Amino acid sequence: MANRILIIEDEEKIARFTELELIHEGYEVEKCADGRTGLEMAESGGFSLVLLDIMLPGLNGLEVLRRLRKSSDVPVIMLTARDAVMDKVAGLDQGADDYITKPFAIEELLARIRLVLRRNSQGNDEVPRSEPDDLLRCGELTLSESHHEVRYAGKEIELTGREFDLLNILLLNKNIVLSRDSLLGKVWGYDYMGETNVVDVYIRYLRSKIDEVYGIRLIQTVRGVGYVIRDDNE
Ligand code: CA
Repeated sequence: MANRILIIEDEEKIARFTELELIHEGYEVEKCADGRTGLEMAESGGFSLVLLDIMLPGLNGLEVLRRLRKSSDVPVIMLTARDAVMDKVAGLDQGADDYITKPFAIEELLARIRLVLRRNSQGNDEVPRSEPDDLLRCGELTLSESHHEVRYAGKEIELTGREFDLLNILLLNKNIVLSRDSLLGKVWGYDYMGETNVVDVYIRYLRSKIDEVYGIRLIQTVRGVGYVIRDDNE
């Protein structure tokens, strides 16, 4: 689920530019240009983070923050004018998580957002997605049958149904060498009538999607016998 970010900033150019960059980074974004509306939106919840300008019409940013903190601990990054040291101190005193000085480099803002979100999710049990309990592992590779999902170092790998089944059987039998016939029976069914080299073909597909992409030797060939995935696969 994408993180939602609220931008409370009355300078249209900055707000628009920041919005576009954040959307480009995969965040969901809402924005508003005055303190009072911003406070209402922030209080209504559903945001992972708020970017809050200090000089705002309606209610200034420090006041928005002070009121928001009565009911919410949503992470807040203050947008402050250059040299406004007192604003930064006041913002942090009132519970801002970080601040950035305008004009800012977008890369710096993105880095601060990631940091604040990460920091916040660590102290919060409900944010990180729980791992499925049927997770099979080999090094950095994980496979979940219930989620029908294969990942390497957290990054999803797209597999066809057969490729998935074949990898699943190999991982379920980790450190056990499986013969081609055995794999054929388990994955294609014992009444399979096609070519027996179909196992080798699918092992090649898996290697091209995993081993070759990530530079590992996940699936080992045991000459004259079959295939195996071992724990010490590196
Ligand atoms: Ca402003």
